[in-house]
Amino acid sequence: MQARVDIIVAEDAGFCFGVKRALERVARAAEDRSRPVYTLGALIHNPQEIARLQQRGVRQVDSVDQISDGALVLSAHGVDPQVEADARARGLEVIDATCPFVKRAHSHILALSQEGYHVFILGDRGHREVEGLAARGGGAADIVTSAEEAEQAPLRERCGLVVQTTQRPEALSEVVAALAQRCRELRVFNTICEATVKRQESARKLAERADVVVVVGGRNSANTGRLREICTATRTPTHHVETAEELSAEWLRGAQRVGITAGASTPPWIIEEVVARLRALAGDAAQ
Ligand code: SF4
Repeated sequence: MQARVDIIVAEDAGFCFGVKRALERVARAAEDRSRPVYTLGALIHNPQEIARLQQRGVRQVDSVDQISDGALVLSAHGVDPQVEADARARGLEVIDATCPFVKRAHSHILALSQEGYHVFILGDRGHREVEGLAARGGGAADIVTSAEEAEQAPLRERCGLVVQTTQRPEALSEVVAALAQRCRELRVFNTICEATVKRQESARKLAERADVVVVVGGRNSANTGRLREICTATRTPTHHVETAEELSAEWLRGAQRVGITAGASTPPWIIEEVVARLRALAGDAAQ
């Protein structure tokens, strides 16, 4: 008979302040049925929660050009200011759900650019938040994804570094060390948000004492991906799922402690379903 399996959810896991705030704003907007409500791309990086929003009538478009009337909700990741300007020019109601921590990074980039600093952004190319950050640099900002890339930067006098809110602090330290060799003056703004730091620390601690870890969250979610990297780096077997249906009883073989962590865009109901399914699988395995 298999020993009892403990299922432990990380102290900090799931929805962060910025995501909750964005969802509350879009839910409030959708209550008013007098006009359509749109989001540009996914409001948050969780396909299951997005499907719920669509059931409440929230529509998703790829471009402002596809909207002729109604309200546009700007996601927690923020957008290129041109997108907001285009929406207003079309007469749309703009509901800004950009997370205040992302806005803080916008302000640093604007100030650095105005003061004549060359701006570097540590972040994932193609991610919406990073595109919005780069746009604040007026097209002159350089995105770097690693210290190796930063080492290739040309020598410069005055540089500033701002970070995508969901990066790892270790990656920031490495890039700062690399850029310090390429710039005479380097100003660094650590714009990694507290929710990210707490979720990453919590995930690492949990993975270090668990026999297996399940990371729950959208496959398109940058912060969930980083939780997976952090747990994998502890050498504890780590599995990434979006929903409870993807769990496998095989993963529990020989495990006494199963850790669960979840990205900042993972809703509580999905975490609860994962916990319940793991309990059921652990019960089956024990019989
Ligand atoms: S992860 Fe941080 S920056 Fe991003 S929405 Fe959540 S609180 Fe805001």
